[in-house]
Amino acid sequence: RTWASPTTALHQEPIRKVGVIGGGAMGAGIGQLAACKGYDVVIKEIDEGAAQAARKRVVSLVDKLAKHRNLSERDREAILDRVHVTTSDEPMDGADLVVEAVVERAEVKDAVFAGLDKRLAGDAILASNTSSLSIERMADATQRADKVAGLHFFNPVHKMELVEVVRAKQTSDETIARLVSFVRALGKTPIVTADAPGFLVNRVLFPYLGEAVVMVSEGHDVHRIDKQVRAFGMPMGPLELLDQVGIDVAYHVAKSLDSVLVGVSPVVDQLKLMVNENMLGKKTDCGFYQYK
Ligand code: NAD
Repeated sequence: RTWASPTTALHQEPIRKVGVIGGGAMGAGIGQLAACKGYDVVIKEIDEGAAQAARKRVVSLVDKLAKHRNLSERDREAILDRVHVTTSDEPMDGADLVVEAVVERAEVKDAVFAGLDKRLAGDAILASNTSSLSIERMADATQRADKVAGLHFFNPVHKMELVEVVRAKQTSDETIARLVSFVRALGKTPIVTADAPGFLVNRVLFPYLGEAVVMVSEGHDVHRIDKQVRAFGMPMGPLELLDQVGIDVAYHVAKSLDSVLVGVSPVVDQLKLMVNENMLGKKTDCGFYQYK
C-alpha cells in the first residue's frame, strides 16, 4: 500500500498531551524527547521503585541534552516540569496519544491496551513501541482498533533519526496521518510500514546481525568481527549493536522473523542460550562483551 501525502490529505486533531506506559530505556527516551519538543508528558510505571528509576533516566537524559546544547537552568527545569512520572492511572486522563513501552510480552501489552481503551477519551490514539509483536492483536484488545498503531522508536531514542509508524489492517488513515505529523514534530523521520514480522528496519537489519551471531558460534573472534565492520564505515559493529539493543530484545525480534527469514533458527538458538544465562548485553554488563 502506498502512502502519498500523509499529512496534507486529512484534517488532523493536534496531539498536545502524550502518555507513555513504561519508563524503561525506551519509554524514558520517548518521554524526554516529547517534553523537549514542548508536549506535556505523563510516564506511568508499575511501582514506586520503577517510577524512581524512570525519573532518574529522564533527568539524566535532560542533563545530557542541557550540557550538549548549553541550555539555561530555566530551560532545563521547564523541560523537566513537563514530565510527570507516576504509578497511578488518573494523570494519563486527557492524553491525545499514549505510547506503550512495557516488556515485550503479548499478554502484558494486551492488558495495557485494554485498560487504556477503557480509560481514555474515544479519540485518543494508542500506539505500541513493540519491535516484534503484532499490532493487529493489540488493536483487537480494544474497542478502537482504528486508533491503534505501532510507533517504533530505535535505541537510543534521542539519537536515532528514524521512527516506524506501523499500520495494522484496522488502523485508519487519520491515525497514521496524526502519528506521521507527531513524529515530524519530534524532529524525526517517519516511515509507514506494514504490520509484518520485523516491520521494515529489523527485517533488513537482522540477516546482517544474525550472520555475525552465527560467525561467533562458529568460533570467530567478537572483537575482530566488529573491528572489520567499523573499518568498513559503520559507527559500531553488529555485536556491539546487539549488546546495546539488548540480547533479550534481539531474541524476540529474531524469533518473530523465523517465519519470513531463511536461516534465522541458529540465531534464535544462540540468542536464547545467552538470554538463559542472563547475558543481556549492556543492561546486565555482559553480552558478547564483558562490561565490568
Ligand atoms: P525496559 O525493560 O527497559 O523497560 C520496560 C519498563 O516497563 C520497565 O521499567 C517496567 O517496569 C515497565 N513496565 C512493565 N510492565 C508495566 C506495566 N504494566 N505498566 C507500566 N510499566 C510497566 O524495556 P525497553 O528496552 O525500554 O523496551 C520496551 C519496549 O520497547 C519493548 O516492547 C521492546 O521490544 C521495545 N523496543 C526496545 C528497543 C531496545 O533497543 N531496547 C528498541 C525498540 C523497541
